[in-house]
Amino acid sequence: MPATLAPTAAPLAAVYFDGLTSRRHRVMLAVEDGVARVTGEAERRCPLADLRVSEASRHGARIVTFPDGAFLEIDDKAAFASLLASTGHRGTLVARMQQSWRATLLAAAGMAVALLLLWRFALPLLADAVAAAVPAGVEQALGKRVLEEMDRTYFAASTLGQAAQARIAAQFAQLTQSMRLTAGADGAPPYRLLFRKSRIGPNALALPSGQVVLTDELARLLQDDGDALTGVLAHELGHLQRRHLMRRVVHGAATGAAATALFGDASAMLATVPALLLDLKYSRDAEIEADDFAAGAMAAAGLDPERLAEALERLAGDGGHTAAYLSSHPDTAERVARLRNRRP
Ligand SMILES: [Zn+2]
Repeated sequence: MPATLAPTAAPLAAVYFDGLTSRRHRVMLAVEDGVARVTGEAERRCPLADLRVSEASRHGARIVTFPDGAFLEIDDKAAFASLLASTGHRGTLVARMQQSWRATLLAAAGMAVALLLLWRFALPLLADAVAAAVPAGVEQALGKRVLEEMDRTYFAASTLGQAAQARIAAQFAQLTQSMRLTAGADGAPPYRLLFRKSRIGPNALALPSGQVVLTDELARLLQDDGDALTGVLAHELGHLQRRHLMRRVVHGAATGAAATALFGDASAMLATVPALLLDLKYSRDAEIEADDFAAGAMAAAGLDPERLAEALERLAGDGGHTAAYLSSHPDTAERVARLRNRRP
């Protein structure tokens, strides 16, 4: 039997649907000279090139679709394959179908990867670039506005004694002084320590203006360990140095803030910041950056970074009173372990 040489294969049974009704037409499908011929309860001819071989149907039959939406269901997959093979169109029809699926999947996967990369790398880079480009004047205005807002709602004048304030201020000055000596003064904002009595409990926060606010409650909590308190302030300076708040602001407000930061009208961006700062939760990466900075600054000032680890543990152990500080400074246990591991 000259099957391999035959220009045509035996016609095979199929069911024809007109694409408009659910009526089943029993037909035979043959292929001659690149043209599919349907005979039986329905009759039509169509160039193979215009047919589409679709995915298998629910019960596994192959589907061949005509340009007008009519289609054939073919149960005998083996016979269908040999029919296609015998016509020499197998390569075009089946491969075209598979390639189009492959191409679609590849395109979809490629798009997903591109979006992921954009989200993961390009947006933070853009936000960082914008945050770094925020003019000092905008940062000053931002810090002033935030402090006014927080003074109005959360802070009152400090009740810490003059002697205690002077002692902490001296340690803070020593810290910033040694930072300038080691890291250079370039671009460093003028750091200032402010004391406030707080309605939000023990806390310390750094404003974009370079002001670091220390609440009386946190000062009293760590009053017997000045180095630990200095460590916490160094950590806040780390957030400032790495511009974490500005990056958050820019991320949060996206393009609007970018335009604002670049083109000067800061009022829209300013409005969002007090709320952001109060509801602030820095990322784990930001905390670790600030810790690393603090450990380096402490070492440069002749202090043991272990004091910061201890301060974090004490804040964590204090439970509810330090909820505000801890909620804005997560992952305490991991950070303590990391601070201790970096010690020589
Ligand atoms: Zn922090």
